[in-house]
Amino acid sequence: MSRALVTVPLNIPDVRIVRTETNKNDELIITIESTKHGVACRVCGQWIEKFHGHDAWVTVRHLPVFGRRTYLRYRPKRYQCQTCAERPTTTERVAWHESNSPHTAAFDMHLLLQLVNATVEDVRHKEQVAYDRVLGALERRISAKVDWSAYRALGLVGLDEIALKKGHRDYVVIVTARLADGRLVLLGVLPDRTKATVVAFLRTIPARLQRTIRTVCCDMYEGYTEAVREELKTARLVIDRFHVAEHYHAAADTLRKQELKRLKQALSEADYKALKGSMWAFRKKPADLKPEEREVLARLFGHAPYLEQAYELREQLTAIFEEHISKTVAKIKIQAWIKRVKDSELKCFDEFLKTLANWWEDITNYFVNRDNSGFVEGLNNKLKVLKRRCYGLFNVAHLFQRIYLDLEGYRLFAN
Ligand SMILES: [Zn+2]
Repeated sequence: MSRALVTVPLNIPDVRIVRTETNKNDELIITIESTKHGVACRVCGQWIEKFHGHDAWVTVRHLPVFGRRTYLRYRPKRYQCQTCAERPTTTERVAWHESNSPHTAAFDMHLLLQLVNATVEDVRHKEQVAYDRVLGALERRISAKVDWSAYRALGLVGLDEIALKKGHRDYVVIVTARLADGRLVLLGVLPDRTKATVVAFLRTIPARLQRTIRTVCCDMYEGYTEAVREELKTARLVIDRFHVAEHYHAAADTLRKQELKRLKQALSEADYKALKGSMWAFRKKPADLKPEEREVLARLFGHAPYLEQAYELREQLTAIFEEHISKTVAKIKIQAWIKRVKDSELKCFDEFLKTLANWWEDITNYFVNRDNSGFVEGLNNKLKVLKRRCYGLFNVAHLFQRIYLDLEGYRLFAN
């Protein structure tokens, strides 16, 4: 083995290297000594310099050196106060290591950078640290709550829910904001979507920031909308257009299911088989269709003209939402669309028409500024992955830390 040596700076302030050695596990052990003199007395706060002796040796994990596990070993110094009556002693504090942490601050940050968009399991294996120690770094370095002082204005706020367990009516609400510079930030993770919970959260927003919330985007759910109307009187409520689209897409899809059921009876086996793949084709917008999907859709519509009508109406409504028009013009266009639906013999949109009437102002508010929580979509994908990643780790504080780390980790810990 080559014994050629390199010298690299330790990059830790106020320490002197006493010894560098490798142990039998080929780990690098660097013994260091603080060159700082004195500490603030833990009782009176006065700077004290009377040396009182050393504490026990502490060995902490540090950044790897050339892929080798590396530890720093030091004995904290203790000082005694000459002013306080009890003559209390105080252990020195070093900026690069928090007492009780098994890691240096730099190693904590290294672990967290590895944890961005990854699992604790991944990091545990790659870095050869215990599972709990990865979590420990997260607990030490990432707050479980938003720090309001980090923001000057919030702009657009989104309330979105994710189901924690598939098929369970068990939601947490993710509250995000899109700042003026386009950055998506996490404001909160709420344990449920009841109005009381949302109200309680909105009240934690400092008044100076509440005033900066221009728009709140959410789904058609009274828990959200009532809470927002009561607590954020100056914000515009917008029902997210993508939630609206889910509703009318589902409406058209109901007819598709009915028609396919009917066609299964009415058509020959071969003709019915030729409709294979029509479900996915039907769900897509025309521009996204591949040639073979276009064909299967044409065959389907040949057998089910009502379904073609539903498809066209669905797409016409989407086209209105795509247009850059005022709220007033949008209302006129959507009214005309409603009339076309009513004039058709279709029943599949009946429920949706009621929804549209119930939420008319909030849905058409979209056209005022074309705000939507599409920006949360990227986050939703992250959340899906995160859900798979930390199955069984669902408390809202932990979820907040994990999402926060995914969103901000590179900015905070890279470099
Ligand atoms: Zn003192």
